[in-house]
Amino acid sequence: MYDIIVIGAGINGGLLAHRLSKYNLKVAVLEKDNDAGNAATAANSAMVHSGHDPKPGTLKAKLNVRGNELYDELCEELKVDFIRNGAMVVATDESELPTLYELYQQAQDRNVPARIMEREEAIALEPNLSDEVIKAMDLPTTGLISPWEVTIAALESAMDNGVDLFLNNEVVNIDKKDGYFDITTNKAVYQTKIVINSAGVFADDIYRMVSKQTTYNIRPRRGEYYVLDRADQPVVTRTIYPLPSEKGKGVLVVPTIHNNILLGPNSDYIDDKEGVDNTAEALEYIRREVSKTVKNIPMHTIIRTYSGLRATPDTGDFIIEEAKDVPNFVNLIGIESPGIASAPAITEYVFDNILKDLIPLEKKTEPYKERRPWIILNRMSVEEKQEYFEKDPRFGQMVCRCELISEGEIVDIIHRNAGATTVKGVKRRVRPGAGRCQGGFCEPRVIDILARELNVAPCDVLYDSDEAKILIGKTKE
Ligand SMILES: Cc1cc2nc3c(=O)[nH]c(=O)nc-3n(C[C@H](O)[C@H](O)[C@H](O)COP(=O)(O)OP(=O)(O)OC[C@H]3O[C@@H](n4cnc5c(N)ncnc54)[C@H](O)[C@@H]3O)c2cc1C
Repeated sequence: MYDIIVIGAGINGGLLAHRLSKYNLKVAVLEKDNDAGNAATAANSAMVHSGHDPKPGTLKAKLNVRGNELYDELCEELKVDFIRNGAMVVATDESELPTLYELYQQAQDRNVPARIMEREEAIALEPNLSDEVIKAMDLPTTGLISPWEVTIAALESAMDNGVDLFLNNEVVNIDKKDGYFDITTNKAVYQTKIVINSAGVFADDIYRMVSKQTTYNIRPRRGEYYVLDRADQPVVTRTIYPLPSEKGKGVLVVPTIHNNILLGPNSDYIDDKEGVDNTAEALEYIRREVSKTVKNIPMHTIIRTYSGLRATPDTGDFIIEEAKDVPNFVNLIGIESPGIASAPAITEYVFDNILKDLIPLEKKTEPYKERRPWIILNRMSVEEKQEYFEKDPRFGQMVCRCELISEGEIVDIIHRNAGATTVKGVKRRVRPGAGRCQGGFCEPRVIDILARELNVAPCDVLYDSDEAKILIGKTKE
């Protein structure tokens, strides 16, 4: 019997598991996919918004501001990247100025550092702002992370400290028993005293498994993106927002922690909770929109497109509560943007406002095992690299020439808690395939390494989901 089972290994499930692993509790995470951080957490703008934008009085506003504050300490503890690159909200027409000043006032009311700048000052900071920009608001505390890196690191750490992660376990039924729940997945039945439902776009369906009274509904809202190749001098260093509209924060130009640029997202309601396609219309719309705020965008350096689904609730705000009709069942429903920026604060909120009344929270007395960061040779000095080459010659075998990743680095991230089992899982962790050739050269090598290390046939190595086979058979025996 578990004390707590978390359903969903996105950034919110991951950070909850990480904090839960510090307490005397038996905890498991159930995830339907074959890797953590595969859903909304894998396909978004990766921004730690400052908190200037959500509507006043909402949980989104409160948790975004607090989440932004918590990121420095969290990322230091998990040993993952976090930078405060800053952002600008730009006005391109006189008619937008009242909204710009409203946002400025909102930022001030929340103690979010912000400053209104005239065009000249804004251009001095970001020379590629479009000729239409007339004023801008500077938001220096806005940051960037790699959301799946934070998620996987949190789960690695949680597992190092005793949490169980069950991948490929899709929750299909939940029975409320006397004092506990039976959770049935496609693989097994798990018993737990408390359930935390952190299933993203499916969280309303999971809640319906135990409640006949729920009126919460999630409608997926798709956002699509272009990815530009890494550049030594990206077109902007801060994230550039237009003024928000009823559809959300608008189409952004966003640097990434790896020096790529993202262009997007649009905002379209769809009905399919797995509909992560790209469409010609949306991509064309994004091209048009970004040219209003930024010029000289090197569109010839596009290397990829992708899309993600926001878990948009019909209440307009995050729903984070113990279900009124099902004691010990905790819902995280409608965690759309700013769900990444808020994630550390969502965990804090669940602990301080819900869990403390449900179960004794006693800290473990044994020392917490610190996470060992992923090995990234490319960031090391020659002497440090040399040590790795001497320890294991596979660190000298270059697999990805775009991102300079060695075989040793890939082998290391396969043989860890919450380790990679797919080509995409390897790419998300140490980036072979994330560069200009998009895996054209390194993918066959990555398949070979995965097959050898996991002891499976190359034809059984998956790109991503269970349907995404890469090889179907041998052409020559
Ligand atoms: C286009 C777009 C842009 C965004 N940009 C930003 C941004 O820049 N900053 C920001 O703060 N937020 C942003 N967001 C929002 C952010 O991505 C999400 O709020 C956040 O990733 C949600 O994380 P999560 O852990 O709650 O859900 P998810 O990441 O969706 O994870 C839920 C998990 O539950 C699993 N699951 C579902 N059903 C089951 C089941 N039956 N059994 C077992 N497991 C199940 C899923 O497989 C998944 O892994 C954006 C979102 C989108 C789509």
